[in-house]
Amino acid sequence: MTLKTADEYLDSIKNLGLEANILGKKTGDLHRHGLVKPSQEAVAFTYQAAQNPETRDLFCVESSLCNDVVNRFSHLHQSTEDLINKVRMQRHCGVSTACCFQRCVGMDASNAIFSTTFECDQKYGTDYHQRFRDYWSWIQSQDLVVDGAMTDPKGDRGKRPMDQKDPDLFLRIKERRPGGIVICGAKLHQTGMLNSHEILVMPTLTMRSGEEAWAVCCAVPTNAKGVRYIYGRQTSDTRKIEDHLLDVGNPLFGGQEVMTVFEDVFVPHDRVFLDGEVDFSGVLVERFASYHRQSYGGCKVGVGDALIGATALIAQMNGVAGASHIKDKIVEMIHLNETIYSCGIACSATGEQTPSGNYLVNLLLANVCKLNVTRFPYELARLATDVAGGLLGTMPSAADLNDPEAGPYIRKYLAANPDFDVIDRMKVLRLIENLVAGAGAVGYLIESMHGAGPPTAQRIMISRQAGLEKKVQSIKNLLSIP
Ligand code: SF4
Repeated sequence: MTLKTADEYLDSIKNLGLEANILGKKTGDLHRHGLVKPSQEAVAFTYQAAQNPETRDLFCVESSLCNDVVNRFSHLHQSTEDLINKVRMQRHCGVSTACCFQRCVGMDASNAIFSTTFECDQKYGTDYHQRFRDYWSWIQSQDLVVDGAMTDPKGDRGKRPMDQKDPDLFLRIKERRPGGIVICGAKLHQTGMLNSHEILVMPTLTMRSGEEAWAVCCAVPTNAKGVRYIYGRQTSDTRKIEDHLLDVGNPLFGGQEVMTVFEDVFVPHDRVFLDGEVDFSGVLVERFASYHRQSYGGCKVGVGDALIGATALIAQMNGVAGASHIKDKIVEMIHLNETIYSCGIACSATGEQTPSGNYLVNLLLANVCKLNVTRFPYELARLATDVAGGLLGTMPSAADLNDPEAGPYIRKYLAANPDFDVIDRMKVLRLIENLVAGAGAVGYLIESMHGAGPPTAQRIMISRQAGLEKKVQSIKNLLSIP
């Protein structure tokens, strides 16, 4: 097997012929679209890093399925060392792209499905695990990108799937046909979908008896008949399709989200990995969410590194790098960022082997990690805004910079530390703006809050995993309280 180069990956996505509704227009040739291209480049980076002699050892790993080298993004973790290397790899991608590079969702879904199908087969005598092994061996051998799709629209939040006015508000099995199932519904906030070859559909919550139709996990090609994409808007998104890269902030990479609709999509049995076993829907959700909460301990830290680097640089450019309160603020940013990283490493190092053989993170610490992610990036963004100054929100456009009349004034009045070029200072300010208030803030802040579940979901898991009773008992023992 050969690992794809970044160009081979981009070609393979182009050849899928995907279309999406973008800003009111049905659009093909997505690889040429200014809104989509930066996010494809971010995924392409994960291929490039696997070929780069400096990072190859971190990104390439021996497969447990096919005795060959695969990209770590499609690897099934075989040890706590693998779990730690996953976080290190994500941090590297985060600081290099300063955005979401999307490929982790499939990695987290595959690891969750691998162990869940094994345990489901043990209980019910199903053959989901072998089906999944065969499917995932193929994914690894072709070096493909897989999007894990979990979040349903959920309709009225106070009602269960079967009580919704429209049963499709939770993705479900609508029909059974010889050889397979037909699914109907939608998945929201899908970051990597348009840049993926395959989709792993998973249930969005723990299903109960009577909700078998919604307890479904299966694989669907992104170009399958009946799958439609509707592009989501981001703040300042159209800057990406204007003429001036300087105003975009992140000139090379970016993120995006799409709504994915499944309209009567046929899925053959060999691609179905859960079909009605409601008691395993919760296991799958919990494991996927915990892997992805661990992931945030790498990727958001990497983006945090980018923000810290940009903040330290703008302090130099503003001529205030030596001021003690500025140094203090940058140290605070580093402290917060490394606290998240410590949780990512801790939940990896204390992970354990599942009965299926792959490794699962420490669920309690993975949730603590993600709960910190819902808070600390906001504080990092606040500190970066403080250090960068008000120009962050008021800087003239690149078009005005290039205007023969306005341009000279901009260059004259935006000059600061004479050791730095004015336009370079504008570039750094735009990158910070992108991350704290522009399109990049979708990935760095909003996604930090809601991706892999909002804070309440982590609090529920923390209360379940914390062993509070045991702590109470220890105090009773200590104080001789019966
Ligand atoms: Fe990966 Fe982070 Fe994006 Fe999730 S949010 S896919 S962990 S880069």
